Amino acid sequence: MENFRTPKNFLFKEGFEDLHLHTIFTQLGQKTVYDSAAQCNKCAYCSRTCPAQLDTAREDKGPRARNILLRFIMENKIDRKKNVTEIKDALSCCMLCGACTKECFAKVPTHEHVLELERVYGRRKLPLSRRLKNKIISLNPFDLKREIKKTEFGGKGKGAFFLPSFEAEFSEVKSAVNMLRAISKICGGARVLRGESGMNEYVYSGLPAARKTALKLINEYFAADGGGKIITDSMDIFNFVKKYPQLFWQTENFDKAQKFADNIYFIADILPSLPKTKNTKKIIFTKTAAFAAEDKIFESSIKLLAKNSQNFCPSWEGDNYPLPPLGYEYIKPGESARYLRRKVEYIAAAQGDAVVCVTLAQKRQLNKSLKKYYPKCKAVFIGDLYADK
Ligand code: SF4
Ligand code: SF4
Repeated sequence: MENFRTPKNFLFKEGFEDLHLHTIFTQLGQKTVYDSAAQCNKCAYCSRTCPAQLDTAREDKGPRARNILLRFIMENKIDRKKNVTEIKDALSCCMLCGACTKECFAKVPTHEHVLELERVYGRRKLPLSRRLKNKIISLNPFDLKREIKKTEFGGKGKGAFFLPSFEAEFSEVKSAVNMLRAISKICGGARVLRGESGMNEYVYSGLPAARKTALKLINEYFAADGGGKIITDSMDIFNFVKKYPQLFWQTENFDKAQKFADNIYFIADILPSLPKTKNTKKIIFTKTAAFAAEDKIFESSIKLLAKNSQNFCPSWEGDNYPLPPLGYEYIKPGESARYLRRKVEYIAAAQGDAVVCVTLAQKRQLNKSLKKYYPKCKAVFIGDLYADK
């Protein structure tokens, strides 16, 4: 039992290894879970950016505390059985936004540590009502599959693959068709990958389920002579797919997962520049996405918008709160509503006329709040900027 609590073995009991990450692919190289947490030098530089810590004004709800917690548990300095309630409390309200990692000099991936601990102390779960709603939406007969049958995108069997978000496939089909048309034009053809990325399982279920779903998608790609670009409309999916090598590390599927991750692009990466408009409306860009640990992933979006708009504001500072990603509004509706309210207050103070989002889900979510509190402004999805061109 003592051995089980050593840093090496704490999180994965023998025989249960596949329930946990053994190696985290950090921005400073591959590290064990323990070494990754031990990279945190407790400087608290990240505290100024963590929405959970800012919202609660509680240091124990911030990234520094979460990293120390993981390390102390692994070093057997905290009795993990007697302090379950406190541990769960410290883990709660992490949005997995990655804002702390972006600020951190050591690039500590706190969101990965939170998920590792949740795999031991209880996973976040989408309410049953939401899961049922998703199921019902996915039965929508006017989905992307049906639209594709009606539309000719050209270059059948050639070109790039489109990996749609849930919204693109079932509830924002018009946007998806527009993106497919753009991809087909730019890449000489467009095919749709029908599988899911495994991101929901990674956050709301577990690693084995995430690997299984991801592998299905990877195999679908290679069965269709995969090798070309995979373009997704979701920055959340893009960020998650970039984690595939970490998921499949030291398994027979690692090379395939690496190749798949190397070939994924966000829609803004492939869209050509739009002509500069005379439009003087103030455009605000929200960089928020799940696991968004670096600003450079938003570069293509920022370039696209800066070229197109005279009055573009790419800022993400002060009260410009991240939008809660990935279904967070269903597990923490109160917190989510507060974050959104603050986002809208920022937009109103900056007198924004439009906000550009990197996922269709964020656009829908933000528009509901804007309609209520600041109807002058509308949220638009970056993939739609090219829609009718
Ligand atoms: S996570 Fe990074 S920024 Fe935050 S306390 Fe640790 S070392 Fe400092
Ligand atoms: S991922 Fe986001 S919410 Fe979680 S600790 Fe980091 S900044 Fe805070």
